[in-house]
Amino acid sequence: MPLPFSDPIWQKPPAAPAFRSLFPGGQRADVVIVGGGILGLSTALHAARFGLAVQVLEAGEIGQGASGLNGGQVIPGLKYDPEWLLEHFGPERGEILVNFAASTADTVFELIRDEKLAVPFVRNGWIQAAHTETALKAVANRNRQWRNRGADVRLLSQTEIAALTGAQGYLGGWLDRRAGVIDPLAYTSELARIASTAGVKIAEHQKVVRLDNNAGIWRISTEGGAELQAKAVILATDAYTGDLLPGLAETIVPLHSFQIATAPLPPDLAAGILPEGQAVSDSRRILVYYRKSADGRLVLGGRGRMALPTSEGDWAHLERALLRLYPALSGVAIEKRWFGRVAMTPDHLPHIHEPEQGLMAVVGCQGRGVGLMTALGERIAGYLVSGDARQLPFPVSPIRPIRLHAFRQVGVAATIAWYRMLDAFER
Ligand SMILES: Cc1cc2nc3c(=O)[nH]c(=O)nc-3n(C[C@H](O)[C@H](O)[C@H](O)COP(=O)(O)OP(=O)(O)OC[C@H]3O[C@@H](n4cnc5c(N)ncnc54)[C@H](O)[C@@H]3O)c2cc1C
Repeated sequence: MPLPFSDPIWQKPPAAPAFRSLFPGGQRADVVIVGGGILGLSTALHAARFGLAVQVLEAGEIGQGASGLNGGQVIPGLKYDPEWLLEHFGPERGEILVNFAASTADTVFELIRDEKLAVPFVRNGWIQAAHTETALKAVANRNRQWRNRGADVRLLSQTEIAALTGAQGYLGGWLDRRAGVIDPLAYTSELARIASTAGVKIAEHQKVVRLDNNAGIWRISTEGGAELQAKAVILATDAYTGDLLPGLAETIVPLHSFQIATAPLPPDLAAGILPEGQAVSDSRRILVYYRKSADGRLVLGGRGRMALPTSEGDWAHLERALLRLYPALSGVAIEKRWFGRVAMTPDHLPHIHEPEQGLMAVVGCQGRGVGLMTALGERIAGYLVSGDARQLPFPVSPIRPIRLHAFRQVGVAATIAWYRMLDAFER
């Protein structure tokens, strides 16, 4: 059920089924996946194709988490550029990570193409828009590193970025042609459909409340009273992680990302705004990201308050950002507002944990999970069938709760307020 004041524009394909398929009592799955988002479903799909018997349990409906709520920007790469990854992880692991990071958008668009998924998409790149000289230097550095690796990327002059975005206030930017945009709910829903066709049992409205291990066999209990057995369990709950696995929720800082969508743009305005359909993120500390949707709306997102929204006013900062970029949109209605949770980790990298034999957890999408979690799911499935840790691009790490986690949110709110002020000074 959507939360109050949260009304996304994204659409499931009209024929999307409800999923109610559970392993019959007494039968044992090879793997139970907790969470029916992109990570859980991608892992399930590939594990089933590798021959495993797979059950996905989702607390709500498929796509109810971040996977069905996000901005639909399919961006390769991680927060860090190739040279940083090589320096910090060494030449061997670093090279694996760089290649993995480079491949994540391809994984999504190849899946859409090869499986003929009913997912509206445009693959024409992602623009990182620079509004200061410092940001211009940063994108130039990023451009150099990816160009050296043969990626289809280039710098944009002030004139070029103005033409490609139609937005005000940028000095230049960076175009990464590997990226694109999708309808994220359609994508998640289609992942569930093909996973189910591959043999995965998927059950919605089955919140997992307990995991027990008895002599190497996992017993998984749901709120509704279902009990399943499996050789392995994967927690794919990301920013919606609860207390199933002690300490896991304390390894991430969940942040709210809010979005707004205009009414479909009138043709005269639409022609000048993102005419080639790229996605954009800007270079502010508290960044905004935006794109056009398949039905011609401008969709813009950014950080939102951590308390649940109580009125449309909680999205006002995004409406102001929209008009700063596109003053001509002042007469266009904001028709939709929604939000979801993003999981951040202190090192800004996803974490893979395996605290016990047959129990894995993956958290920390950093707001880049569409490509990242799709690609990671395939690797997790590969690891499950082979036990070969080289399948995993990120090292398996121990669960390390963040110190003073309970106070972290206060710190985050203060930092956001401070960054907003710095951004305002640079305007
Ligand atoms: C507003 C917003 C905008 C974003 N924009 C972008 C973007 O443009 N591009 C991009 O790449 N990334 C973006 N992201 C990040 C991206 O959406 C996530 O990284 C990605 O969807 C994470 O996928 P996931 O499968 O790991 O988690 P989720 O999709 O969050 O799935 C976790 C699921 O676990 C379920 N769950 C939790 N606990 C239980 C339980 N006990 N039992 C059963 N089920 C449980 C939840 O109901 C949920 O459905 C955005 C995120 C948000 C919130």
